[in-house]
Amino acid sequence: MTSNTRSIPSVDRLLGECSAEVERYGRALVTEFSRELLEAARRGDLPDVCSDTAFDSVAFRRHLESRIDALCGNSQRAVLNLTGTVLHTNLGRAVLPEEAAQAVAEAVTCATNLEYDLARGQRGERDDHIMRWLTRLTGAEAATVVNNNAAAVLIVLGTLAPRKEVIVSRGELVEIGGAFRIPDIMSRAGCRLVEVGTTNRTHLKDYAEAIGPRTAALMKVHASNYAIQGFTAHVAEEKLAELAHQHGLPFIVDLGSGMLVDLERWGLPHEPTVKETLAHGADVVTFSGDKLLGGPQAGMIAGRRDLIARINRNPLKRALRVDKMRLAALEAVLKLYADPDRLRSRLPTLAWLTRPRADIEAVAQQVLPALTRALEGRAEVSLVECRSQIGSGSLPVDLLPSIGLACRPVEAGRKSGRLVEQLAAAFRKLPMPVIGRIQDGVLIFDLRTLNDAQRLIGLLSQLKLRPTAARPAATGSDQPMPVVS
Ligand SMILES: *Cc1c(COP(=O)(O)O)cnc(C)c1O
Repeated sequence: MTSNTRSIPSVDRLLGECSAEVERYGRALVTEFSRELLEAARRGDLPDVCSDTAFDSVAFRRHLESRIDALCGNSQRAVLNLTGTVLHTNLGRAVLPEEAAQAVAEAVTCATNLEYDLARGQRGERDDHIMRWLTRLTGAEAATVVNNNAAAVLIVLGTLAPRKEVIVSRGELVEIGGAFRIPDIMSRAGCRLVEVGTTNRTHLKDYAEAIGPRTAALMKVHASNYAIQGFTAHVAEEKLAELAHQHGLPFIVDLGSGMLVDLERWGLPHEPTVKETLAHGADVVTFSGDKLLGGPQAGMIAGRRDLIARINRNPLKRALRVDKMRLAALEAVLKLYADPDRLRSRLPTLAWLTRPRADIEAVAQQVLPALTRALEGRAEVSLVECRSQIGSGSLPVDLLPSIGLACRPVEAGRKSGRLVEQLAAAFRKLPMPVIGRIQDGVLIFDLRTLNDAQRLIGLLSQLKLRPTAARPAATGSDQPMPVVS
């Protein structure tokens, strides 16, 4: 025992002195952490709190506060996504509009008519809240919604093709990040995958020859996160639909992102819309809520009334259904699509994707002087042309020209890789973490997704860079490089 335990007060006495902390964090946490700290003090592990002669209660409270803060700080926090990937799966994909936030707030703080028919005073259907929007926006006879698009594919296959065969082109056996692979989903759904064609070319006759007595459906998976270029051939949706229907089979399309309006309207590359795909003869289409649609995580299923009814009767539907919060957010977002003229100004995802270059550059110019000052002596900051991605596997080959701020560590050579990592880490430690991307030894912040320059500028004053090791001019070059942490 290295400390004079006689100077250590009892927990009860300490709690009396920590009334502010008890008020802030509650008695239970303060008691628990005080006990732990006092034990550490007795072991002699807290020399600043407990010396041989005295107990420093100010230092004790400082330790107490920092330990409880470490526990109680939010784990999931708002960050500034300046990676250049607008729909970044690791950063939560779509940012929702204010209308959706309000709808969610209301749904969570009140009881709602989630499954209650207000007109008849009877049990209702939770899907009805979004059904009218989905059918209106896609032209589908019916629609339903589940946890995400992976779940949508799972339940569609499990309902329409259990223990049967589903024919898919070899060029479409995709893996989407996070272990979603078409072949694995097929086997989990209890279907047998029949691959046809080759990676780069699949013809109508490949499908036709594969149809047999055990075939339950033809399926097309949208090439969302890759592109096969060069000597390629794929079969148009109309042709596949026709073939499927000749054999009395449903034609299923997993669209992935599944847009509800034509992006060409805003000068973006064409992405197939759900309406088009259904008009081409698809019987069931699945797509995500939080990709191009710009809403909450969800998996939409739109198509023939009889097939949607079968899907809804599958017991899996109960396990995969979405809660009232997401239905509220989804309804608020879908509603915005009723007015495509104003969609761009209301839906953050679309606003960012279609943001004019001049607008991005103006934000970059505003941030440039402050960032240059904040990194003085550590990194050179310059305005650069860069390319943003839509992300989440949408339009993989179409990168959007954008403007970024590039931070290049002043010390080149072997250490610059470590320096740029340290720089990126310092930005991640900000009260609102700022996430950029490192490319060729340079930290780049793509400003497409920064609406408010002041928000970033305000954070920069709190950037904590490790002190530069002074380099005595006389002794030459082998001194430590300036580093940041
Ligand atoms: C993204 C994607 C999925 C998975 O969708 P989640 O909503 O992430 O579950 C499935 N299929 C395709 C083609 C996709 O692009």
